[in-house]
Parts: sequence; structure tokens; C-alpha cells
Amino acid sequence: MNEKPISCAIIGAGPAGYTAAIYASRANLSPVLFEGMQPGGQLTTTTEVENFPGYPQGVNGPEMMGHLREQALRFGTDIRTKVIADVDFNTRPFKLTTDSGEVVEALTVIIATGASARYLGLPDEQKYLGMGVSACATCDGFFYRGRRVAVVGGGDTACEEALYLSTIAKEVFLIVRKPYLRASKVMQNRLTEAPNITILYNTVTEGLYGEEVLEGARLVENAATDTERRYELPIDGFFLAIGHTPNTTLFEGKLALDEQGYIVVNSPSTRTSVPGVFAAGDVADPFYRQAINAAGSGCRAALDADRFLQELR
Ligand code: NDP
Repeated sequence: MNEKPISCAIIGAGPAGYTAAIYASRANLSPVLFEGMQPGGQLTTTTEVENFPGYPQGVNGPEMMGHLREQALRFGTDIRTKVIADVDFNTRPFKLTTDSGEVVEALTVIIATGASARYLGLPDEQKYLGMGVSACATCDGFFYRGRRVAVVGGGDTACEEALYLSTIAKEVFLIVRKPYLRASKVMQNRLTEAPNITILYNTVTEGLYGEEVLEGARLVENAATDTERRYELPIDGFFLAIGHTPNTTLFEGKLALDEQGYIVVNSPSTRTSVPGVFAAGDVADPFYRQAINAAGSGCRAALDADRFLQELR
């Protein structure tokens, strides 16, 4: 550990991490961004991004993340392709250990490790990813104008995604494993008002099919009962909405997390339970989960880190 402490370490390379890096670089904080082995975050798993302001013709996800990375580099961000495997927030400066055992010290840390959409675990999901399977209706719904789609899940996200898709697609099926929805009543009422949404209760997905792109799902209704029924549902789009898992395993017991594992921040700031540690993007956002919000909170985290460092001086 020969390096002097980094002023601002950023963990994670999605819209939040890169935006934090741009702002921190321009504030002369000489940030170091640890981008891990899969830079770009969730947007690298989508194809076309059409709702990020500034791209009137849309842009593909990996390309947009390339632009953000380039912009961070332009202002001098030190981007390291390393995974942070451990953190120690009990000492000052903080200690970050990479997976190769290297220890770096940092005066402030911005966590932007994101969240991962949950998948059912079917092998077919990966096969049709971007070819009919998606975990974000807001991102990909537009491509299903006038088509038949299904959403899996019974929570608020699933209902919201089904409602959103119902304004675009011809027909929407909500695949719910239980005989009821977990979603709030207000959301359930909205669903019943949508004429083109059909709720398939007590139904699970066994598999997907299609020649090259998705053509349908294999469903089982009332599994393991006398009324069990297996059937194929022809659909063009299959949207997962069974929750997200924030990428916070590394911070368990080290920062305050909510019951779902998201980092608790003192909103509207990005301050966590440890002074000098900030969180931005989906890792601290169970609600909005949009790239533009992640970018906005990355900006706030850099400004918060800058203020914190000014108070140290
Ligand atoms: P939730 O955890 O609330 O719901 C997940 C849903 O997915 C549940 O219906 C669950 O079924 C189902 N599910 C989980 N695993 C599987 C599986 N393997 N197979 C089939 N179904 C499965 O997650 P959400 O993302 O919906 O919501 C997260 C939080 O965000 C909640 O607190 C929610 O209220 C909030 N939210 C609020 C919104 C709003 O107010 N506008 C909008 C979106 C989210 P089961 O019920 O059987 O466990």
C-alpha cells in the first residue's frame, strides 16, 4: 500500500458511478473509479435506450455507457478494472481491498454498485435475453407496440409494468404464482380498469420457446393439484418483475441497509450511516430505478463528497 489515500473512491461503473466520477474529477477530487469486471451496469444488458435525455434517436445501452466512461476519462478519472472484495469503514482513511488483495485507502467512498433484476432461473431466460425477454418494461416496452406480452410477478412493480405495457401492447398477461396479488390495492384497482390485461393466477412459467426470438411461454396452472393444467401461451415479450436485489453483500454489517438490503441514505443527500461514505443509483433506490435518476444521484454524491472533504480541511 504505497499509494497515498485517494480523496474519492467510487465503486461501480453504471450511470451513477460515471456521473459521480465526472463531477468529482471536475471538482479536482482526483477520483479513482473501480469498475469491476462488467463495467456499464444494467444498461449493458438492454439494447436500445430511448428515454435518456440527449439522445433524440436513442442509443444502445453499451454505447451510452461508453460515452459516460469516455467523459469521465476526459476529466481525468483514474478508472481501474478491479473488483472491490472488502471494505473497512471503521478506520480513517477507509480501506478498500481488491480481489487481488491490494489495499487502497480513501478519504471518501461513493458506492454505486447498482442492483440486479431477479430472474426465474430458467435456462431459456438467458437464451432470449434481448430477443423477447426483458426485466425492464420502461426500457424495452416500446418495441412491443401492438404485440402480446406477459409480465411475471404480483408486486407493485409487476402491476406498474403491466399497466405501462397495456398502453403499448395489444394484450398483456400478468403471470402470478399465488391466488392473489401482493401489490397495493390502488395498483390492483388500476389493473382491473385496464381492458387488455388478463391476470393468470396460480400460474408458474416452466419454460419459453421460439425459433430465434421468443414466441411463447410454457405455463402451468394450479400445479400439483387435481386441476393442474399445462399450456402454451403465445407471446412476443416476457417481462420479469419479480423484484431486484441491490448489490450490497459487501456492505452488510458495515452500513445501515433497509429490510430489502438497499443502502439507507439521508435523502435528499446521498449520505449513508457512515460519514464520508455516500451511495448513489439503484443500490440506494428501490423505487425509481432509472438511469437518469442514477446519474442525478451520482452528481449529488460527488457534491456531497466534495463538501465533506472541504469540512475536513
Ligand atoms: P416485491 O418483492 O414487492 O414483489 C415481487 C413479486 O414477484 C411478488 O408478487 C412475488 O410473488 C413475485 N415473485 C418473486 N419470486 C418469484 C418467482 N420465482 N416466481 C414467480 N413470482 C415471483 O417486488 P417489487 O419490485 O414489486 O416491489 C419492491 C418494492 O418497491 C415494494 O415495496 C413495492 O411496494 C415498491 N414499489 C412501489 C411502487 C409504487 O408505489 N408505485 C412501484 C414499484 C415498486 P409472491 O407474492 O408470491 O411472493
